[in-house]
Parts: sequence; structure tokens; C-alpha cells
Amino acid sequence: MFALEALKMLLKKPFTWKYPFEPIEVPEGFRGKPEYDEENCIGCGACAAVCPAEAITVTEDAKVVLTLSYADCTFCADCEKACQWDAITLSKEFELATLDKSQAIVQIEREKNVCEGCGGTISAVEQMDWIKEEISEIKDNIPADDLEAITKLCPECRRDKAAENIISEVYS
Ligand code: SF4
Ligand code: SF4
Repeated sequence: MFALEALKMLLKKPFTWKYPFEPIEVPEGFRGKPEYDEENCIGCGACAAVCPAEAITVTEDAKVVLTLSYADCTFCADCEKACQWDAITLSKEFELATLDKSQAIVQIEREKNVCEGCGGTISAVEQMDWIKEEISEIKDNIPADDLEAITKLCPECRRDKAAENIISEVYS
């Protein structure tokens, strides 16, 4: 009886895969390496803001730079869900082991808009283009001063300017 079963099993195909000797097909919905689409990315940083593992960081020195570290990523897909520009998606790539740390990060650089008040960062140029487009339909309802402040000042300088305006109105 056992001999017969053993013989049957010998004739059956193996249930296991031969990976890594053969490529493996991952199932639909598999969450692998997050990949940026540079064309679509406006550098808004929403992906970094929602990343629970802090695997994505944004720096704003000469340019707005997004850095994604695969070593820190938990492949949760929150970045993909947060990006309304389809600029980051989880691929099926899972072979990420490397001895070269520089291979474990990916970076995107965006030119930035500089604040006319303090020289700091307002946003990436592409993000400001999107903001301008968004407000173009309602711009007639926004005071000219505020409209200018949105495109030329960083949030801190906008706050300061708004406070100055309120104070001058109250004491004039
Ligand atoms: S959320 Fe999308 S568009 Fe914004 S920085 Fe991330 S990848 Fe780019
Ligand atoms: S998949 Fe999750 S952990 Fe990885 S970069 Fe996106 S949000 Fe962060």
C-alpha cells in the first residue's frame, strides 16, 4: 500500500517551485518594490507624509528631493494609495537584496519655487503648476493679495503677512 503511494508520488509533478533556479510568477496584487514614475510625480511629498515606516524622506535644499529606501520599506502600499497622480506603484519586483547600499535607494529631484520673503521653499515647481491650475477656476473669488501670496510666499511668510495685514487693519 505504502509502496504504491510512494510510486504514485514519484510519478507526480513536484508541488514546490524550483526558485531560484527558475523564475517565479508572483500572484496578482503582490506588493513588491515601490517604483516612481518620474513623468507623473509633482514632488508634493504626500507619499512621504503617509509612509508609516518613514521609508520616504523629502529634503528641500537646492532642489526638492524625494528619497525612497527599500531597506526601510514594509511594502504596505500606503504611498500608492496616497498618490493621486499614479506616480508611485508597487511593482512585482521582490529580489531587492544587495551588498551595495546605494542600490537600495531611489531618488527623484524636482526644481523648487523659492519664497520671495525668506528664500525658503514654497513647493516643487510642478506642484505649484498644479496649484495654479486648481485655483484658476476660483481665482476671481480670491483677493489679489492672497493669490499673489500663494504663489510667491512659503506658508510661514504667508502667515506672517496675514498677521501683519490683520494688525494694520485693526490699528489703522
Ligand atoms: S505623492 Fe505622488 S506626486 Fe506626490 S511626491 Fe509622492 S509620488 Fe510624487
Ligand atoms: S510601501 Fe509603505 S513602507 Fe514602503 S514606501 Fe510605500 S508607504 Fe512607505
